[in-house]
Amino acid sequence: MAQPTDASFANGTVNASIGLHRGHTEQRQGARPFEKVLIVGAGPAGLLLAVLLARRGIPSTVLEAWDRVDERLRATQYGVPATRIFRRAGILDDIRSASITHFPYICWRSVRTGDRVAGIDLSAVADDPDRMTVLSLNQILGILLRHCQEKYHNYITVLFNHKVIDIHQDQGKAWATTEDVSSKEETKTVTFEADYIVGCDGGKSTVRQCLFQRDWPGETFESHLLVQNVFYKGFEDHGWEGGNYMIDPEFWGLVAKRGKAQGDDGPLWRVTYGDSATNLSKEEYVRRREVAFKKMLPGHPDPSQYRVTQTDQFSIHNRCVTKMRVGRIFLAGDAAHVCNPFGGYGCMAAVLDVGGLADCLIGYYEGKADEDILDAYANIRRQKFLDFVDRRSRKNMNRIRKSDAESTPEFDPFLALLKSMDGDREKTKTFLLKVSSIEYDFTQHYREA
Ligand SMILES: Cc1cc2nc3c(=O)[nH]c(=O)nc-3n(C[C@H](O)[C@H](O)[C@H](O)COP(=O)(O)OP(=O)(O)OC[C@H]3O[C@@H](n4cnc5c(N)ncnc54)[C@H](O)[C@@H]3O)c2cc1C
Repeated sequence: MAQPTDASFANGTVNASIGLHRGHTEQRQGARPFEKVLIVGAGPAGLLLAVLLARRGIPSTVLEAWDRVDERLRATQYGVPATRIFRRAGILDDIRSASITHFPYICWRSVRTGDRVAGIDLSAVADDPDRMTVLSLNQILGILLRHCQEKYHNYITVLFNHKVIDIHQDQGKAWATTEDVSSKEETKTVTFEADYIVGCDGGKSTVRQCLFQRDWPGETFESHLLVQNVFYKGFEDHGWEGGNYMIDPEFWGLVAKRGKAQGDDGPLWRVTYGDSATNLSKEEYVRRREVAFKKMLPGHPDPSQYRVTQTDQFSIHNRCVTKMRVGRIFLAGDAAHVCNPFGGYGCMAAVLDVGGLADCLIGYYEGKADEDILDAYANIRRQKFLDFVDRRSRKNMNRIRKSDAESTPEFDPFLALLKSMDGDREKTKTFLLKVSSIEYDFTQHYREA
């Protein structure tokens, strides 16, 4: 076995492994420049990439560490650029039918007064097929998994309980070593080989760590994030709808209507807030929720007035790798870059990454582009993150946690822009549906383009 060509790879061996080793060159079919892609991680990036490739006949294997898709409370809304890729992947209709139909606005409110300081009227695009998508990430993952397993089972193999522990590459192939933990008796080590490996394994990415060890430039913020599913009649009673960004230096966040589920106590809402207190234990943060909800929620409720059905806690980071490609290994989504969730950029950036990478791999596979289109993916998507996603998500978070936006919104350029569009449905529609600077069409690099 040839040694990895890149010195930054972790050391390891495939000698003891079993599994899908195949003679690489003799497996090549026709004039195709590559045969198979290995995807690490069955999150939105990994499963969506597999679907986009399968739709053009490119086979992939998805290796997932857990025994199921992630059920934590994370993404719920995805901007217009992501909607367009969900449609390309053939999953938009399923998402829309699982989603709430009425999401009339996103607004910014003062926690101090509860009053609205600015907003966007989403009813201006209520019937537009490209409008923002609203659905809990675990439900989107369920839809993606179903498409992989039912519609594209000839092209996609999803293997749960396969935690990637090491990756390598040489001139002709790349391979990933996994621990198969499905059996209680023994942990098997299995090695999978492919032409390319795409690390879609999230913020704690093993693929990234194999490439760059702990080097992941950026910042981890001190504040702590609490996310909960909440039933509370007070939202309805006080006329709240849609998404409500809450501006406050102590407890700041997003309170948004999220699900079709309807309890006696009203529909399902998601309350996501940053707690500015630092260095507390998880239990201490949960104990402070009572104070946070009393301050933030309409009607200033006591715990007996609402019902919390699930809580998750997260740290907040904005970070990006120095390279999204090393030889035959690519990074996409959170494995490459993460941002705070305010503004709904993280998953959208992951979706745009894999939409772009799929176009590049398809172009190369179908002979419409040279191999260097894969470099374009890595360079352009990274730059898009740094120039737009990183900056905008930081601004979004700072707007709600440490600004005077609640008292003087006219001094915040973004809120001032929204105020200038107030009541003008045409202007609002154009603003919401325009091609975003975070999008990029890689097919312009195809030869026929
Ligand atoms: C509270 C919160 C709210 C958010 N809200 C939004 C929002 O509204 N809109 C938005 O766009 N974004 C939002 N995000 C961000 C969004 O959830 C992430 O950006 C998105 O999930 C990234 O997708 P991914 O596929 O890159 O990674 P992940 O979703 O993290 O998936 C990675 C997968 O890889 C698997 N894995 C990890 N290590 C290994 C390994 N060694 N071997 C095999 N498998 C492995 C994991 O188990 C997981 O299934 C939010 C995030 C948080 C925390």
